Amino acid sequence: MQADLRRATAFLVLALLSGLASGQLLAGLLIAAAGYAAWSHWRLRQLLDWLRDRKAHPAPDVPGVFEAICSEIDFLRTRHRRRKRRLATLLKQFEDATSALPDATVMLGPEGEIRWANVAAQDQLGIRWPDDRRQRLTNLLRHPDVAALLESETAADTSVDIPSPIDPGLRLSLRLAPCAEDMRLFLARDVTRMHRMGQMRSDFLANVSHELRTPLTVVSGYLQTLRAQERQCPEAWKPVLSQMQAQTDRMTSMIRDLLLVSRLENEPSTLPGERVCVPEMLRRIHGEAQTLSGDRRHLFALEADPTLHLLGSESELYSAFSNLVTNAVQYTPPRGFIRIRWYGDGAGAHFAVEDNGIGIPDLHLPRITERFYRAEAGRSRHSGGTGLGLSIVKHVLHRHAATLHIESVIGKGSLFRCDFPPGRVVGAEQAESA
Ligand code: ADP
Repeated sequence: MQADLRRATAFLVLALLSGLASGQLLAGLLIAAAGYAAWSHWRLRQLLDWLRDRKAHPAPDVPGVFEAICSEIDFLRTRHRRRKRRLATLLKQFEDATSALPDATVMLGPEGEIRWANVAAQDQLGIRWPDDRRQRLTNLLRHPDVAALLESETAADTSVDIPSPIDPGLRLSLRLAPCAEDMRLFLARDVTRMHRMGQMRSDFLANVSHELRTPLTVVSGYLQTLRAQERQCPEAWKPVLSQMQAQTDRMTSMIRDLLLVSRLENEPSTLPGERVCVPEMLRRIHGEAQTLSGDRRHLFALEADPTLHLLGSESELYSAFSNLVTNAVQYTPPRGFIRIRWYGDGAGAHFAVEDNGIGIPDLHLPRITERFYRAEAGRSRHSGGTGLGLSIVKHVLHRHAATLHIESVIGKGSLFRCDFPPGRVVGAEQAESA
């Protein structure tokens, strides 16, 4: 800075002296100012050339403000270079780590276009990086569940299983996780082993249930014959026969439910699409529930919107709704209140069963829909339940893209609500015209 001041002063003194000597003070000053401006412009030009290409041009070596600017720029550049190197190393480490991951990882942009993919994505999904850069994921993976997952608003909480597009023997579990703004991570995990084990368990259950059906039918048939001739039986045998009949009936229901669960598990995941008149179905279920209630004389209320129908499988929905109503009857003391509702709102359509029965303790609620899970072992065995009802409900709802909501207070009652998305709901007129 000092040098600049000295230089400018020298210019000014020279201009003054030459102006005074020539008697043209103003002209001398103007010429000196123009000269100084030209010199500064030349230094700026040098600085610009140096900034543009430092290798071909040496740094301007005039001490003063230009030198200070150059060293400041040099310092910033060195710092920037170091940061870049550090970031590049980090990026390389990240790429190495994700490449080593056994799970396929694909980074997606806002339009579902591929921004980056690891090596496993090629082996499991057939996505080649960088050849498939900017391609939409749905153009490469044409499975409907992939498109549904990408469009789903609750994708972060769900996963879908599909066969691998390049090896149908591989089973992949797909997940979507939001990452940076507008970006999403698409993850695929090889779950072939788990899937096979699940399949084996399911096949085993289906086969055992199937095989048990015939001997059970024979035993049940003989029992009915014996009970038809009860009068000839010794008195002490009568309660025994009645117990045997009750337990045989229970086993028959259990096998029926087991076969239904295994069928639901093995059905393709595509949603059934019959048009189902839910209000009419609920009238039937209501009638059956009254019969089941019998002497217990529960108080029923049925409120069903007659204009609201569903797209789905009539038999599956019947099983699910009827299971929920039957449970309300089984777990509500005599003369208790049971309210069945079918209504719609902005979020879709809802089927709700509310009772003022014995309720379920909080700690059991998270696991209550698991197969054979019971809030308390005694209570459902006593009610003749199979422990499969809510598991059936869960499967059926899952296949209809619906969810089950449960609220319960022990000793006060329970609410079971099935929430169907708007896409599954049709108006009565639409249902009739179709
Ligand atoms: P179950 O055939 O034993 O009734 P579910 O799967 O239908 O099997 O139900 C599982 C358990 O949930 C039942 O054993 C019961 O303890 C509890 N449960 C279901 N519905 C109700 C209800 N409305 N009120 C109280 N408890 C219920």
